[in-house]
Amino acid sequence: MKIDLTGKVALVTGSTRGIGRTIAETLVGCGARVAVVGRDLKKAEEVAEELGEARGFACDISVPADVTMLVQAVEDAFGSCDILVNNAGITRDNLMLRMKDEDWDAVLETNLRSAFVAIRAAQRGMMKRRWGRIINIASVVGIIGNKGQANYAASKAGLIGLSKSVAKELASRNILCNVVAPGFIKTDMTDAMTEDAVTALATQIPLGRLGTTGDVAGLVAFLSSSHADYITGQVLTVDGGMVM
Ligand code: NDP
Repeated sequence: MKIDLTGKVALVTGSTRGIGRTIAETLVGCGARVAVVGRDLKKAEEVAEELGEARGFACDISVPADVTMLVQAVEDAFGSCDILVNNAGITRDNLMLRMKDEDWDAVLETNLRSAFVAIRAAQRGMMKRRWGRIINIASVVGIIGNKGQANYAASKAGLIGLSKSVAKELASRNILCNVVAPGFIKTDMTDAMTEDAVTALATQIPLGRLGTTGDVAGLVAFLSSSHADYITGQVLTVDGGMVM
């Protein structure tokens, strides 16, 4: 079974590193042309050059007007935006008692509102072309919650509700919307953890290890492809069996 995305254009937010970068690389490998997005244009352009059929774009996705302009810029540059992967995300962890309003707002604006704005902007072209794939990167924390991550868990649970609503609203136009919920994946985000914390965590994962960015990217490529034409509104965990 070959995944062929020839002729498709994919916009992947937060693709300058981590999971997003591997998603961008994997989609290019499947034949798509990819918009690499981060806050730093030089970094995004460097990554795009390394990947090949890609272009770099700078956007702070916590700013709604900039997200709308980003989608327009990608459509202008490539002629369409067929696959939208809302991947960029941040954490501002703290216990509820100590969590500041700014920490709540920053996480909700970056992780959730950005996806709403990007989908609203990208759906126009997708509706015209009667084809679209929207994949939102949530987290298992959005399903099971986590101490110290009320803001992050709320943003990721919000992505799940958003995705199911979008899936229902746009299904008749052949626009599919699914959620990928990673468990613990080795990236800059998890590199901040101590070795002891990682070892303790691995004991709770049936497959006994942290995931790789490739573990997530493979599923995103599948969901972007014709092999997933009858799948929408789903939440798929990539977590070594942590949540089942
Ligand atoms: P990283 O911290 O490694 O990378 C985050 C990416 O998002 C970077 O490319 C960064 O680019 C970009 N980004 C952050 N803030 C903004 C912003 N305001 N505007 C534009 N781009 C931004 O994260 P991961 O790869 O680990 O995570 C990717 C996604 O997967 C996130 O949504 C995360 O919540 C989710 N996830 C990760 C897990 C893990 O274990 N790693 C587990 C579960 C979910 P730059 O800094 O260049 O702007």
